[in-house]
Amino acid sequence: REGPATGLRRVLLPAPRSFCAGVERAIEIVERLLDRHGPPVYVRNQIVHNTHVVADLEARGAVFVSGLDEVPERALVVFSAHGVAPEVEREAARRGLDAVDATCPLVAKVHAEAKRAAEAGDTVVLIGHEGHEEVVGTMGVAPERTVLVGHADEVAALDVADPGRVTFLSQTTLSVAEVEGIAAALKERFPQIKGQGAEDICYATSNRQAAVAAVVGEADLVLVVGSANSSNSNRLVELSRAAGVAAHLVEDAGQLDRAWLDGAATVAVTAGASAPPRLVDEVVAALAALGPIEVVERVVTEETQEFLLPQRLRSPGRGA
Ligand code: SF4
Repeated sequence: REGPATGLRRVLLPAPRSFCAGVERAIEIVERLLDRHGPPVYVRNQIVHNTHVVADLEARGAVFVSGLDEVPERALVVFSAHGVAPEVEREAARRGLDAVDATCPLVAKVHAEAKRAAEAGDTVVLIGHEGHEEVVGTMGVAPERTVLVGHADEVAALDVADPGRVTFLSQTTLSVAEVEGIAAALKERFPQIKGQGAEDICYATSNRQAAVAAVVGEADLVLVVGSANSSNSNRLVELSRAAGVAAHLVEDAGQLDRAWLDGAATVAVTAGASAPPRLVDEVVAALAALGPIEVVERVVTEETQEFLLPQRLRSPGRGA
């Protein structure tokens, strides 16, 4: 590949990368609650899938729990950006908890679609990864009417009550190409199926994938900043590797391996939607510490999306 001037490593920064509006909103909800009420503020599961975000909030007094039974009666509890099944909301109400919902509005939209389809009598086929928190929440909207599919080769074995009454939906953070493939297999098996291709994949996921796709052809190495359990971050690594380029997921600059950089004249650095921008800056600084670099920003899409905070947190001061 054509590299930059001899000895200078080129660092490509595809944009958008890093935080999305749903993650910023979820973090702000916890921060505002900590400001207003002081610690502890309980958070069910990781607020977003990033260990640095979780550690920063923990240092400020957030307490992360995996079940509501760990939350004292009447305490404040935040539901994470990935969404919760209605049963979790009911459990919170039964226990008298003061629940604040940080579910991303784009996940909530998929929940609403699942509810509508199930109430209309359809079987909901959810395209998603088994065990992911978002999938657990979405499956929980209509558990007895929802089936999960993770790969196109599972479509043939799907068991649905009435093949003429099926709606498909997807997890928000999957690979656009993969969901389109599964959707095509579903349409072939269930010609009357309702659903919109990869439309449930959120703007942040698809924009980050498109941005990496736009630069991967110029890169010798792609570094994706993100945590191991971040779905959209993993998809960026897969997309790069599928294009034939070496790619690694790194939690932070401390995980950079110098051996990866051998012969890598051009390195693309991106980040999943849950990874803070400062971690990208730190990776770029670590690359600069290894030799001269030229940083090139590549804006593929401008993002202007913002989500309103829950009503009770919109105005400054003690509102809750
Ligand atoms: Fe919402 Fe998408 Fe961000 Fe998840 S990645 S919080 S669905 S905008």
